[in-house]
Amino acid sequence: MDIIKTIPEIRSILRKHRRADETIGFVPTMGYFHEGHLSLMDIAREKSDILVISIFVNPTQFGPDEDLERYPRDLEHDARLAEERGVDYIFHPDVDEMYSPNFSTYVKNLELSNLLCGATRDNHFRGVTTIVSKLFNIINPDLAVFGQKDHQQAIIIKRMVEDLNFPVEIVLGDIIREADGLAKSSRNTYLNGREREQAPIIYQALKEAKKMVEEGERSAGKVKKYIRDKIDSVELSEIEYVEIVEDTMLGSVDKISRGNFAAVAVWFGDTRLIDNIILL
Ligand code: AMP
Repeated sequence: MDIIKTIPEIRSILRKHRRADETIGFVPTMGYFHEGHLSLMDIAREKSDILVISIFVNPTQFGPDEDLERYPRDLEHDARLAEERGVDYIFHPDVDEMYSPNFSTYVKNLELSNLLCGATRDNHFRGVTTIVSKLFNIINPDLAVFGQKDHQQAIIIKRMVEDLNFPVEIVLGDIIREADGLAKSSRNTYLNGREREQAPIIYQALKEAKKMVEEGERSAGKVKKYIRDKIDSVELSEIEYVEIVEDTMLGSVDKISRGNFAAVAVWFGDTRLIDNIILL
């Protein structure tokens, strides 16, 4: 496994693989790996000849008051885990390699970027679609794997690939959870002891909501209220949103039908956690 820092170098390496008719699988990440990231690498590994991942904490997807500086990083640890999962190349550019001083062209979905997480995280999804476009143009993957954990991100990326004709297949990986149900996230390391104890309430609420729907409840209002009340029942939670949406344009629904998701963002202290579940 090699760690590549520059765009010309990764391009030249991958050109050779493509000439040899090898397919390229790609997993973009911000690093600090947990089982969630590694499960996506397993999916890509199985479906492609060459496996490339990127580790890049992308400044354009962080707001001015967000956690760009304190976002956890550990390249050595990540490289060890990636190698064990059969990664061939880690693309790990510096910020200057990706953003020149004159950088001024962005990719933004005009319908989906300001909903749900985008309502409070101004420009976040513009940063995501821009960096993923750049990475797709650099890596040219046949297939790219994203996590269902970031449900809105996955939908926006799929929309972008279709709208802008990127020649890449998008595959989604299931949410990987801790034993107590908390969705794995690099940001879970920010939680203090009490916050960490209470955070599994999020998945408990989502799971119980799904059960309500399976047992026949179809009112989105009632299910959302159930989720809110459950999450509010622990002391340290602060709900940002609880929504039930359809899975193409993230429209809010009144009556729950097949393919609808419940999506939530909840603060525990300074830490913002997101999670989602397919209801039907
Ligand atoms: P990040 O490094 O947080 O930008 O995440 C990189 C990729 O891993 C994204 O496609 C995420 O959706 C995915 N991911 C993050 N957490 C999980 C998880 N718990 N289960 C599955 N995929 C995840």
